[in-house]
Amino acid sequence: MNLILMGLPGAGKGTQAEKIKEAYHIPHISTGDMFRSAIKEGTELGKKAKSFMDQGELVPDEVTIGIVKERLAKDDCKKGFMLDGFPRTIPQAQSLQDLLAELDTSIDYVVHVDVPSENLVERLTGRRICPACGTTYHVLYNPPKQEGICDRDGSKLIQRDDDKAETVKNRLKVNMEQMKPLLDFYQAKGYLVTVDGDQAIDAVFQEIRSQIEK
Ligand SMILES: [Zn+2]
Repeated sequence: MNLILMGLPGAGKGTQAEKIKEAYHIPHISTGDMFRSAIKEGTELGKKAKSFMDQGELVPDEVTIGIVKERLAKDDCKKGFMLDGFPRTIPQAQSLQDLLAELDTSIDYVVHVDVPSENLVERLTGRRICPACGTTYHVLYNPPKQEGICDRDGSKLIQRDDDKAETVKNRLKVNMEQMKPLLDFYQAKGYLVTVDGDQAIDAVFQEIRSQIEK
């Protein structure tokens, strides 16, 4: 089973990836992990990627796709894989099509965990952090016993700038603009399945299962 996972930040994609990995025994390949391991192993492409990252530049597509190619050629991908965070652009998606054809395989499904942006704002702005001990809370999902106060040391909790509504809304907008052309691309190829991500974790997973086992 060859899958691509898509979804906005906070949509629960990572949680679903863990469940899919467990159920189907396929590796979860996130872009970040893939880069980190290529750099750690010191491959040619890893070195190239690092030189761009060290200069604060974007890693060019040809390097990224090369790293994806090396990763997908590994033994643990023989029975399938789940890509997360790649592709990000249409040229990358096209290169991936070519690469998979070269490896004599193809994508089975692109799973879009869909949650409306306005619901994500609530999820993503709820995080609170204790400046003294670093404990993380969430006003809805993991609230402290007393509102705004750390359970461990009584410090006043803070909201990071990254978690403030305007920043979050802007991040979601940028992500949506980036993701939309890819959803259209995969829809046109007949790979796209959209699941309602705005339900309990297990219900989302059941929906994914029923869609990809059709
Ligand atoms: Zn604390």
